[in-house]
Amino acid sequence: RLLADVIPPNDIGVTFDDIGALENVKDTLKELVMLPLQRPELFCKGQLTKPCKGILLFGPPGTGKTMLAKAVATEAGANFINISMSSITSKWFGEGEKYVKAVFSLASKIAPSVVFVDEVDSMLGRRENPGEHEAMRKMKNEFMVNWDGLRTKDKERVLVLAATNRPFDLDEAVIRRLPRRLMVNLPDASNREKILRVILAKEELASDVDLEAIANMTDGYSGSDLKNLCVTAAHCPIREILEKEKKERNLALTEGRAIPSLHGSEDIR
Ligand code: ATP
Repeated sequence: RLLADVIPPNDIGVTFDDIGALENVKDTLKELVMLPLQRPELFCKGQLTKPCKGILLFGPPGTGKTMLAKAVATEAGANFINISMSSITSKWFGEGEKYVKAVFSLASKIAPSVVFVDEVDSMLGRRENPGEHEAMRKMKNEFMVNWDGLRTKDKERVLVLAATNRPFDLDEAVIRRLPRRLMVNLPDASNREKILRVILAKEELASDVDLEAIANMTDGYSGSDLKNLCVTAAHCPIREILEKEKKERNLALTEGRAIPSLHGSEDIR
């Protein structure tokens, strides 16, 4: 059941180059995660440079937090384990505690690994939540115990990366365990242009497409919104072709001519 949520590094399919803008966040992640793996000798002196065990990515929806977590795993050659409340409710209903234990045990076994907790607020939100279910409380405790257990057992090899749109809803105990917090904000115009360039890097564009102008017209758009905009735009030529074909068929009908087929290979009467 759990293996379905694990992606080996070569199958993740996201690298830092696939992420437009967010240079500061990418650089910090490289320094915090990749460098200690690649140059451990730089980090072995003293307590202050010890590898970080937890990083929080926070910011509005669709700004690339999941992509960043995946890119970290890819570039660190680590397995990516995606854990979420939806997995617990769909596959592990009533067994949250077991699930959490299994995740950490698997993460250690297949280390190096990145444990990505998406929407961490829904899983590890404030403890004083009045309606909180006993099973939920137990699951959270299990999470903390296993997370702390990692510190001595699996130094440097299992990283917990958490993401949220609601950082203020997080439990204090969780915040303490995520000492590095990186804001992943909505892009400004010049960053929107960079994101558009990355999204469209492998696409054939009409000669009059002006990405700078589009970036200037899309204030408030997230990376995800820009992706949706590009997908919608990419469908326009398809729609235009179908429209044109429909018009030609209607015209042929009214004129009593052979009706061109959908694929243009044969005529239909
Ligand atoms: P949520 O908070 O809703 O979980 P998120 O911050 O995790 O969202 P992602 O899931 O990483 O956002 O991004 C959604 C999609 O938006 C990506 O699959 C990608 O297509 C696009 N996207 C977002 N940000 C970027 C970016 N900086 N560069 C390129 N594509 C991006």
